[in-house]
Amino acid sequence: MNKEILKDINVLYVEDEDDVREFTSKTISTIVNSVETARNGKEGLEKFQDNREINLILTDINMPKMGGLEMCAEIRKIDDEVPIVITSAHSDPDFLKKAIDVKVSAYAMKPIDLYHLIESMIKAVEPIFLRKKLEYINLTLENKVEEAVKQTKSILDAQDNMVILTDLENPIDANKKFFEYFQVNDLEEFLVKHNSILDVFKRDNNLLNKDIFENSENWISKLSELNEIDRTVKIENKDGEDRIFTINIDDYEQKGEHYVISFTDITELKEKSNLLEYQANHDQLTGLFNRQKFNEIFKKEIKREKRYNNNLSLIIFDIDNFKNFNDDFGHNVGDEVLKIISKVLLENIREHDSVARWGGEEFLVLLPQTDELGAKNVAEKIRKAIESYKRDDIPRQITASFGVTRFKEDDNETSVLKKADDALYKAKKEGKNRVEVF
Ligand code: GH3
Ligand code: MG
Ligand code: MG
Repeated sequence: MNKEILKDINVLYVEDEDDVREFTSKTISTIVNSVETARNGKEGLEKFQDNREINLILTDINMPKMGGLEMCAEIRKIDDEVPIVITSAHSDPDFLKKAIDVKVSAYAMKPIDLYHLIESMIKAVEPIFLRKKLEYINLTLENKVEEAVKQTKSILDAQDNMVILTDLENPIDANKKFFEYFQVNDLEEFLVKHNSILDVFKRDNNLLNKDIFENSENWISKLSELNEIDRTVKIENKDGEDRIFTINIDDYEQKGEHYVISFTDITELKEKSNLLEYQANHDQLTGLFNRQKFNEIFKKEIKREKRYNNNLSLIIFDIDNFKNFNDDFGHNVGDEVLKIISKVLLENIREHDSVARWGGEEFLVLLPQTDELGAKNVAEKIRKAIESYKRDDIPRQITASFGVTRFKEDDNETSVLKKADDALYKAKKEGKNRVEVF
């Protein structure tokens, strides 16, 4: 690790937990020039406004008064460059987008591992360090070209990120990290092996690939026109593993002659974000869609139904006497039953049907292109499958009651649900373990 580049840095460290803040700031103060601390985003923003000598922000996300990403968004309005390191896991499904929007440079998971934290700080500071050095050397000074190139090279090679140096149209050189990643000795060999840099971007629905550049004359200027979030690519490494990078372009001399293109590995950030997205949409116990996600799908399907009138039906069902089940055999066995139900459910629906855990022991099935009779048959099928389910560790027969209804012209989400619920109520009243159609 090239800790040297941190020694002149002034850090603003924002963290709401006193112990963590005190311990971490004490430790990093031994390797940086100064550390200023704040207890929440609001205080952090004020300190940043007061002290413009700060050249690195280190911040937690979940904090009282103002969160870390909110603070960073405000800071970005004042300063577009100052590197930001995030020190927290986060429960926001939009985390990745927000993090990229505020240009988070690096990410250190909590609980904080100091080695990793310092590594992240170095990664964050490097691009700015690099730019300053390159500006200083100024490649265009003709009489010093050779010396300048040598110096540039050693600086580039010290970088943790993959970096390419280009003129207006073509790569001129790349750093050691880049060559290591692609297992080549120099740019020439890279171009023989991969044809162009764009060719190493793997196809993935949500990521950048070379199609975007098809009708543009100059890929570098096209790339720099894209939003930060759209400059995310997937590149396979030498072990055949896909890694995700965001690309940054810096016209370091501000003359439009040379560019520094750097690739920052955000694979872990992306994985974390996918996981968060999954958690935000799914029920933890059963893995089915949760209420929030179901509502989203429900809205879309109703819109579609209003346009095409293809029949849209809804089934709601509720486990019978589940309270007794819990009371007699314990909550764990009850949980197991909920998992069984969701498995049975998924085995008995079609690909286009959506299922969700609506409440504790209530489930919903949304069936596009299905009329009442069709939906009733599906409900019957599920009912029978539950009723006949047997497993040694489940000590009692499980049954459920079903309400079925179809979306009619002047229905909305609430009214359809109400109709299904009324039918379910009837099924319970008439003896349970049965299907009723509204
Ligand atoms: P009914 O046949 O009328 O539906 O009676 P019931 O006992 O199933 O309904 P009631 O609404 O009285 O009780 C629902 C029970 O579901 C109570 C609650 O403890 C249980 N439950 C809700 N969520 C969970 C869960 O996540 N795990 C377990 N094990 N039980 C749950
Ligand atoms: Mg019940
Ligand atoms: Mg209930």
